[in-house]
Amino acid sequence: MAVSHLECKECGAEYAPEARYVCERCFGPLEVAYGERRGSAGDVGELRRRIQGGPQNIWRYADFLPLAGGPPGPSGRLASRVGLPAGCTPLIRADRLAERLGLGEVWVKNDAANPTHSFKDRVVSVAVARARELGYGVIACASTGNLANSVAAHGAALGLESYVFIPADLEEQKVLATGIYGTNVVAVRGSYDDVNRLCAELSAEREWAFVNINLRPYYAEGSKTLAFEIAEQLGWELPDRCVVPVGSGSLYTKIAAGFEDWRSSGLLEGELPKMNGAQAQGCAPVAEAFAAGHDVCRPVKPDTIAKSLAIGNPADGPYALDLARRTGGSVDAVSDEEIRAGIRLLAETTGIFTETAGGVTTAVLRRLAERGEIDPGERVVLLVTGDGLKTLDAVRDSFVVHGIEASVEAFESALPAAVTV
Ligand SMILES: *Cc1c(COP(=O)(O)O)cnc(C)c1O
Ligand SMILES: [Zn+2]
Repeated sequence: MAVSHLECKECGAEYAPEARYVCERCFGPLEVAYGERRGSAGDVGELRRRIQGGPQNIWRYADFLPLAGGPPGPSGRLASRVGLPAGCTPLIRADRLAERLGLGEVWVKNDAANPTHSFKDRVVSVAVARARELGYGVIACASTGNLANSVAAHGAALGLESYVFIPADLEEQKVLATGIYGTNVVAVRGSYDDVNRLCAELSAEREWAFVNINLRPYYAEGSKTLAFEIAEQLGWELPDRCVVPVGSGSLYTKIAAGFEDWRSSGLLEGELPKMNGAQAQGCAPVAEAFAAGHDVCRPVKPDTIAKSLAIGNPADGPYALDLARRTGGSVDAVSDEEIRAGIRLLAETTGIFTETAGGVTTAVLRRLAERGEIDPGERVVLLVTGDGLKTLDAVRDSFVVHGIEASVEAFESALPAAVTV
């Protein structure tokens, strides 16, 4: 759908829909505002049919995404949308996980099934499509790891030069899975917050599209596609609760905004789900503010195995706090040990191997279940946003490998229980 303008979330000031992200009047963040909404009450059926007939990727939701080009043609291959299609990832009913936790209905949204194995492909696809509409030839980002993977791959797919900035202490798997695309990898000695500050300075001086800085308003809209998909996969219904990882808070708040968009278009009915945010204790500025009853977050210095969520000064912190309270949700934090146990619990009960961020959400789901906060009748969606193969260190030494000689006797003496199976 056509973008109308950018609007300050704090003071409502309006700006042209260019590559800008901060209000000149009050320094508040800018957000995309759309023109006339399509699909107002009368033609919900038609809107649903158009979505269902669209491509098997996020561009089926083009009516709700911030591009000038209008919805894609019959083939779904508008010039700005070729490249590395993201989305349409599985939503899986996880009965064995539900049973372990004493819950009724649990679904896992497995966004590790994206082209570069994390939900970041959604936000990058949208930001890069918009960057191309605005005429940018170089894409860049400040990343906690997965964003660098995705920007580098989109650059390769579209033939755009790319620069990705990461904290120097990132997981080796994420660095390797990024450099291979022929990008420029810049490892900054410092935290993500230092990387972000550096990139904000660079973006003021260069005509580059930093997907999560000057293109941030468009980037953030991409997360809404997770909400659209979940609702479509549930048969055009809302879940009762979502458990979502919180780094900057963009994904968490935009999933709710996606549900809201579809409610106001008449595609969905009912209340917004309870939104449970999930952080690691080693970097929990939002969970700490939630527990203390504050409206804003106090920045922290991250120290956790959940590096993809290690943002000490979350841009959307206040909006995340407001969302948790408004929906009857919460923002909880779990320890590195609980995260490892969460990765294992999910793997053992669903066959899905998640990175640490999914360990965080699974551990928070377990916490909520143990606190008795979830009704047995609730339909819960657990978000898994990235792949375990990128954070292998987190599970090293967490299970036994039976090393044996190549003989039946050696096997049976190493695993005596197997003799009777
Ligand atoms: C970036 C990331 C997040 C958090 O996203 P925010 O929008 O910054 O809150 C969650 N999970 C994974 C795997 C990520 O890479
Ligand atoms: Zn403002």
